[in-house]
Amino acid sequence: MRKILITGGAGFIGTHCLQWLEKRYPHYFLVNLDNLTYAARPDALESLHHNPNYCFVRGDISDSGLVKALFQRFHFDHVIHLAAESHVDRSIVDPLLFVQTNVTGTAVLLQAAYEYWFEAPNQPKSAFEAHRFLYVSTDEVYGALNDNHTLFVEPMPLVPNNPYSASKAGAECLVRSYGHTYGLNTVITRSTNNYGFGQYREKLIPMVLHCALADEPILLHGTGDSIRDWLHVSDHCSAMDLLLHKGQPGQCYNIGAGMERTNLSVAHAICTLLDAYKPLKNKSYTSLIEFCAERPGQDRRYALDTRKIRESVGWKPSIGFEEGIQQLVQGAVVCSDAYGD
Ligand code: NAD
Repeated sequence: MRKILITGGAGFIGTHCLQWLEKRYPHYFLVNLDNLTYAARPDALESLHHNPNYCFVRGDISDSGLVKALFQRFHFDHVIHLAAESHVDRSIVDPLLFVQTNVTGTAVLLQAAYEYWFEAPNQPKSAFEAHRFLYVSTDEVYGALNDNHTLFVEPMPLVPNNPYSASKAGAECLVRSYGHTYGLNTVITRSTNNYGFGQYREKLIPMVLHCALADEPILLHGTGDSIRDWLHVSDHCSAMDLLLHKGQPGQCYNIGAGMERTNLSVAHAICTLLDAYKPLKNKSYTSLIEFCAERPGQDRRYALDTRKIRESVGWKPSIGFEEGIQQLVQGAVVCSDAYGD
């Protein structure tokens, strides 16, 4: 039985990741360490609570004593590290919280993993090397693309432009250093924007859904022309699964769907679907779209070259944006949980 520590397992991606692992690897023992910030959705994990191979621990990843005690108690084989403060706007208001959680928290986890795995009694060197630390980073660490053609490739330098992406890049540097200095078996993922069921409504897609269904203004930054690549969260889970089991130690992998859309076109797509599924009497939902000041540190475009993950572990996304967004909007019309309400 493999024992896996999943941090941030009560968050948007974490809940999907836990459900993915539970379904495919029922013999794995999954420990979810999460301190349940505003972004957590513990209700989504209710079904897991009946699983004897699941344990929830409420706690902070930067609590070194707690994290070390969990390693001693559960003897983790691997770590999937998702816990983070994850919203750019909040990082602009409270950057030190992002440094504490995203950088210090990652350092605490790395040190605990290294100490436990390296010092575990009676194990050969190969056992130390088999323990994997998977760090879930973001495409935002590359900074912005200012044209519509270039793609970020893994060896490019990290040029983060806001406190969130800087804290993720800082954590990445620590992960890399534990691989290089101590031989820890690390893998770093850099994923594009995720969407799917249960995302907290501060993020673009659930925000548009929430405002539209509440008949409130849908506020887009600037002219809505920032471009993001939208990856369905289940495709992110399949990528993490492959990289946990087959990724090469010390490597970073871009994860993207090649579904680039402006924020304005995302909002339009959602409104048009809502017009079909839940029409308003006298207007289209698109009439709710308004524009506000551009946010400081806004990156114009992110887009990834994903040849490495496709060629080395055979991953490819399975859900196109039109299909994924249609499912989500249909779900939102019947159940507000779809967009984190
Ligand atoms: P989220 O904000 O929805 O969830 C984060 C989770 O981490 C929450 O459950 C929260 O309670 C927990 N958490 C926060 N601080 C903690 C702490 N100090 N100790 C323990 N738990 C803590 O985030 P998400 O969208 O699920 O993202 C998960 C990871 O994926 C993050 O590392 C994020 O940077 C990365 N990522 C997200 C996206 C995306 O589009 N959502 C894209 C690329 C990468």
